Amino acid sequence: MPETLLRLALPSPLRRLFDYCAPADVDVSTLRPGIRVRVPFGRREVIGVLVELVTHSDVPADKLKPALELLDAVPPMPATLVELCKWAAQYYQHSLGDTFSWALPGLLRQGEPAERRLQRFWLAEPEAQTTDPRLTRAPRQREALTIIKQHPHGVAHELIGQLGLNKESLNTLLEKGLVKIETRMIRSPRHQGAWLAQAELPLNPEQRIAFEAVRARLGYFHCFLLEGVTGSGKTEVYLQLIRQVIESGHQVLVLIPEINLGPQTLSRFEKRFNARIALLHSALTDRERMDAWLAAREGDVDIVIGTRSALFTPLKNPGLIIVDEEHDTSYKQQEGLRYHARDLAVVRARLEKVPLLLGSATPSLESLHNAEIGRYGLLRITQRAGSATAPRFQRLDVRSRPLDDGLSQPLTQAIADTLQKGHQVLVFLNRRGFAPTLLCHDCGWVAQCPRCDARMTIHQRSRELRCHHCDHRSYPPQHCPACGKLDLRPLGAGTERAEERLKILFPDYPVLRVDRDSTARKEAMQTLFTTVQRGEPCILVGTQMLAKGHHFPRVTLVAILDADGGLFSADFRASERMAQQIVQVAGRSGRAELPGLVLIQTHLAEHPLLVQLTEQGYAAFGQQALAERRAAGLPPFTHLALLRAEAHKPGQAEEFLEAAYSEAEQLAEEMCIPSIELLGPVPAPMERRAGRFRAQLLLQASLRAPLHRILTPLSQRLEYLPSSRQVRWSLDVDPIDLY
Ligand code: ADP
Ligand code: ZN
Ligand code: ZN
Repeated sequence: MPETLLRLALPSPLRRLFDYCAPADVDVSTLRPGIRVRVPFGRREVIGVLVELVTHSDVPADKLKPALELLDAVPPMPATLVELCKWAAQYYQHSLGDTFSWALPGLLRQGEPAERRLQRFWLAEPEAQTTDPRLTRAPRQREALTIIKQHPHGVAHELIGQLGLNKESLNTLLEKGLVKIETRMIRSPRHQGAWLAQAELPLNPEQRIAFEAVRARLGYFHCFLLEGVTGSGKTEVYLQLIRQVIESGHQVLVLIPEINLGPQTLSRFEKRFNARIALLHSALTDRERMDAWLAAREGDVDIVIGTRSALFTPLKNPGLIIVDEEHDTSYKQQEGLRYHARDLAVVRARLEKVPLLLGSATPSLESLHNAEIGRYGLLRITQRAGSATAPRFQRLDVRSRPLDDGLSQPLTQAIADTLQKGHQVLVFLNRRGFAPTLLCHDCGWVAQCPRCDARMTIHQRSRELRCHHCDHRSYPPQHCPACGKLDLRPLGAGTERAEERLKILFPDYPVLRVDRDSTARKEAMQTLFTTVQRGEPCILVGTQMLAKGHHFPRVTLVAILDADGGLFSADFRASERMAQQIVQVAGRSGRAELPGLVLIQTHLAEHPLLVQLTEQGYAAFGQQALAERRAAGLPPFTHLALLRAEAHKPGQAEEFLEAAYSEAEQLAEEMCIPSIELLGPVPAPMERRAGRFRAQLLLQASLRAPLHRILTPLSQRLEYLPSSRQVRWSLDVDPIDLY
């Protein structure tokens, strides 16, 4: 009978599995796929995941090495999560071992046991007496024993300091056999009593329709797109659905785009529910992350909230998955496993047989398309909840108007009027720093990053030039490096410059800047929001960080300084993003009884997409934009995969991509797949970045299946191309960013 072998996925970028013999003295028939196994790999030891047991290997028997150790009896990941990883690895053309690594908490990757944290408790031995003769000369020990005896359930080791106990006395008592240590698992207590901590709001008719539609599908797989303007009460619909799910003993997974929104979401959920809620965020220690992961797996958490990677949280009894702000591009991971958490959520929901609810005021064109063809159920809330009214849009044509550091006169006037009424103003500009670059007025020299094909951004506050692509920093020159003259001027405006100008124009009002630079400190954002919530007139100026999720009820004017970038960018998704940003920023205003006005400065006031958006709203814009995509043969009507390569020397990336091109062409012929279009190789839009030369090859197909049929063998062949050794390459399936 042939020997049974272990086929493992190892944490390596290679897209293949590895065979090993079982460790000695192990009954192979008891091994379950999904367990972790430690094996020798090259000169290292690594931890892999058992994928299957096989009896035949392509590796000659004498070359097979034995595995060193089995780390689990029971697979740490539930079967559906293992399936999800397999699906993701296959779809995104990524190594399965690496995919498991993304999914497992760090401590499990490092080989820690998949067990909840144990806590030590000090307890008195039943016979121990404070009158024990051995304690007559040891008053501290006697006192310690007295305290311990007052806690018949034991004193947690972490709390001994607070009770005035010290370790030495306890250890001596332990040696004398008067106290003992017990280790116990910490478990969050089971839920007791009512789930609701706060009454539910009566739903309006549109909310009710959405709620009932999803509720009817609980227990089944179905995808819904909930399109509701900002402030329309989507979250209220989520909350009422969550209640249904947790009351029936199931768990809910809620994905949010950005962890900045976590505390706000968490506090709203905690106000509503008397439930066990876990917020997964990047500040958790490895141990805390693993504890939360295990607690969710064991059903000791009712609601899990987290960003994209939380999609890989195991759930014992899943009941519903919600992806809030589903259009947000931060759901797409841009390195390693390039997955889209929204798209994978569809797969997860199908595997778990639960409904998926995608919510947004500005759904992605992909999701709108899926709703249109009936793949997703479309639920709409068209009115703002309560008494809030929708903001009014106005395009402000700035052609031939002088701009004062990016601000036109009518805009400045509108800001002044708003502040005078005692309201707040939000100024949106999606460009941080002081100015996009430094220009010599004499010869036209501009400050270029020495490592990228990009301009350096001026940061006034820190008195430096910074590249936003590679973070290269330098001091601004005193004279022009090209002609030596002194007339160097900032060109264009970023948030810093707008802030500076607004401070001069409105010295009597606070001007608060929100961008990645100003909120680098942890509490900065929170402090700022507290100030805004107080409600006094002020000006908020910031990047898209301002556009996400927050409520600013006293903002009645939203000023968008520059909408043009989105209208003539080379990126076909730029207009979609611009529209989403405008609508999202606009949605921050006029939440309460105060109606809002949105002023958009543009040089393209008659652009059809902008007109559609501002006069008929996002849904109409979406229709128009989808029609344009269809006509141009772009996603979601075609499917893309982007092969990127970068190298230290010019030409190397192209050389690799030329070879890739030939391989792809050959595969298409061998497999009789004529419908794949190969576009490139071409230099990347930013050819040099951080000192490397970059190029790309785009694969496009009108159907997804043939594209994927080719990608799998192609990516394997690429690993063996000689030219692949000189480059760093990656394959991005459904890229959202062609740069
Ligand atoms: P969204 O998630 O769509 O931005 P929210 O759920 O946050 O909207 O609701 C916006 C505001 O309207 C909140 O203050 C919320 O309490 C309120 N609200 C939501 N639904 C109702 C309702 N049915 N009746 C009254 N107020 C509601
Ligand atoms: Zn010059
Ligand atoms: Zn750079």
